[in-house]
Amino acid sequence: MKIAILPGDGIGPEIVTQAVRVLEFFRAEGEKIELDCGHLGGAAYDAEGDPFPESTQRLAQAAEAILLGAVGGPRYDTLPRAVRPEQGILGIRKALGLFANLRPAILYPELVASSTLKPEVVSGLDLLIVRELTGDIYFGQPRGRRDNAAGEAEGFDTMHYAESEIRRIARVGFEAARRRGRRLCSVDKANVLETSLFWREIVSDEAKAYPEVTLSHMYVDNAAMQLVRNPRQFDVIVTGNLFGDILSDEASMLVGSIGMLPSASLDANNKGLYEPCHGSAPDIAGRDQANPLATILSLAMMFRFSFDRQDLAARIEGAVRTALAAGRRTADIALGAEQVIGTRAMGDAVLAALKTSGDAD
Ligand code: NAD
Repeated sequence: MKIAILPGDGIGPEIVTQAVRVLEFFRAEGEKIELDCGHLGGAAYDAEGDPFPESTQRLAQAAEAILLGAVGGPRYDTLPRAVRPEQGILGIRKALGLFANLRPAILYPELVASSTLKPEVVSGLDLLIVRELTGDIYFGQPRGRRDNAAGEAEGFDTMHYAESEIRRIARVGFEAARRRGRRLCSVDKANVLETSLFWREIVSDEAKAYPEVTLSHMYVDNAAMQLVRNPRQFDVIVTGNLFGDILSDEASMLVGSIGMLPSASLDANNKGLYEPCHGSAPDIAGRDQANPLATILSLAMMFRFSFDRQDLAARIEGAVRTALAAGRRTADIALGAEQVIGTRAMGDAVLAALKTSGDAD
């Protein structure tokens, strides 16, 4: 398993260090894991004057999976757009053709009180949003400003999806559903949009190859409502770039803290970039306060999707749950009187739980 490690900026190096300890633990158990470190974002700009330098491009191309911390920080905010840290992320997504963004929203029983929704609505929540990441109205041409027929200025964008783009993201959705609860809900706006009507036709056609998965369709406005009314009705949601952007942020709030949310961005061969959903948190960087669990859980996604190692993924997720059940809390997930621990201590707790799970095997 050849993994590129890109710590990035802010809390990135701190949280990635804890995830690397998990990888080193598995390596000590005999797993063949090769790690190579590189720069991305502000760290890459500092080292090589480019947020996505050639050295990192080579590293990313050569790896089978990439673990990223986060990029960005106030000291880069005044740089010209072309060398800002975010260009590093956009660049790596584009260079690797990462068209499928997977965001699970899992509410661990120990954190039910952290959600803004009532426990009876969210407890046991385990849903996955599969968002198309490289198409749709975000990239459609033409776009811009013009004068309309009445001579009034207007802004405009173009929504479109090619058949191949819909088929490949639908397949990611079906494959994910096949491995989970075997229910896939495709979200669109087919009552209004031609693009959505076409999307629905193609997703329905792809369903023929997955008879074991039950496909349903839902309009995006209803999906937004259902996510807060009864989120547990969903297993896997597949949707386009625009709708997925909004719904995945909505779903992330269901589980409490952003410090718990992992993500994966995959190409056609399940090569992936794995990263926490949060940013570089400059306000707490360097203070041993960041929650490393979203990054550690991103590793679980890596083992599941890029390496098909469900066993290692399950062990990581189990270890995180054990740490939480033992009352280990970083500040972002601590409630009231709970004792707060730091980034490294949370890493220690996960490693201790992993060791126990290995002993049990
Ligand atoms: P942020 O996610 O970094 O922080 C938002 C809030 O959440 C902050 O109060 C922060 O302390 C807290 N937080 C975030 N992660 C946490 C963790 N693991 N543990 C505990 N608390 C955590 O968002 P922001 O403040 O809007 O952005 C800061 C920088 O990150 C900006 O430069 C932004 O561009 C960048 N950013 C990067 C990515 C990425 O690398 N994919 C994503 C979003 C934002």
